[in-house]
Amino acid sequence: MLDVLIVGSGPAGLSAAIYAKRANLSVEIAEKIFMGTGQVAESGRVDNYLGMPGISGYELGEAFRGHAEAFEIPFREAEVSGFERTENGWRALLADGESMEAKAVIYAAGAKHRHLGAKGEEELAGRGVSYCAVCDGAFYRGKIAAVAGGGDTALDDALYLSELCEKVYLIHRRSEFRGAAATLRKLEERPNVEIITGVVIEEIIGENKVSGIRLSDGRTLEVSGMFVAVGMQPETECVRDIVALDAAGYIKADETGKTSEDGFYAAGDVRTKQLRQVITAVSDGANAAISAAEYLRKL
Ligand code: NAP
Repeated sequence: MLDVLIVGSGPAGLSAAIYAKRANLSVEIAEKIFMGTGQVAESGRVDNYLGMPGISGYELGEAFRGHAEAFEIPFREAEVSGFERTENGWRALLADGESMEAKAVIYAAGAKHRHLGAKGEEELAGRGVSYCAVCDGAFYRGKIAAVAGGGDTALDDALYLSELCEKVYLIHRRSEFRGAAATLRKLEERPNVEIITGVVIEEIIGENKVSGIRLSDGRTLEVSGMFVAVGMQPETECVRDIVALDAAGYIKADETGKTSEDGFYAAGDVRTKQLRQVITAVSDGANAAISAAEYLRKL
């Protein structure tokens, strides 16, 4: 039986593995995607990871993975479909019918950005379609960008981009916004922000990179960046009956990674937190591993 089973091979899982290994624990990572590195691989360029200005998301993910491999951390390609408590810890049930057992679990399966479902979105992801304004906004300095969504993320993204871009379209499918009225007011006052409501983005246009968007009212807008901010979906389906989740489906856990269940830790985008970034995921992994090590010492 393992000391710690880590679910997820993104920055949080890989960092947790390195800290757990250095704490002399036996550890294995279950990863859904073979040789995966999580969402970071989707970022074209990462300019806000300390010490690595301008690195591509793919390269940063590979560097993290290479670090874990240098520590001889074992990986297993496995999709976890549920968990059971055992006398000595936890059993992870795998989609292929097998299982893995460990005294403690660090669950770092991440969260997915919800996609718009517009034509061209998947093909142009990373080529003008972005799911993170904080990560990619700087690449659109002086250019025209659009933001889709009506929640706080979309409003904050539009405000952030309005400081950088020549013009920002904020496009929402309804006329009422979920996001804070105060932010909406600020956007309304910005001369370079145009708010368009009651329309759907039907198509993102571009050959190799985004050049425009087609709206449901028949208009076509020229844009170089399309920021999709229509919510996140945490990967918590398989822990729904195991640990406490918040209303949006994130695992309730603080910086220590401790969840409602002893010996079950959450790290990275999957937990309740304010800022979901690579740097905070890496830090979560370290914290969760140290929490798990303390827990196992007391057992
Ligand atoms: P959210 O509140 O769930 O909003 C998602 C938005 O995307 C909604 O306006 C929704 O439209 C729209 N949407 C969903 N699917 C769509 C689709 N297929 N096509 C077009 N539009 C679509 O998500 P969020 O903005 O990421 O915020 C998540 C949570 O974090 C919220 O609780 C938010 O308050 C919080 N947050 C807070 C802050 C802050 O306090 N500064 C910043 C960011 C996030 P409808 O409105 O029509 O459903």
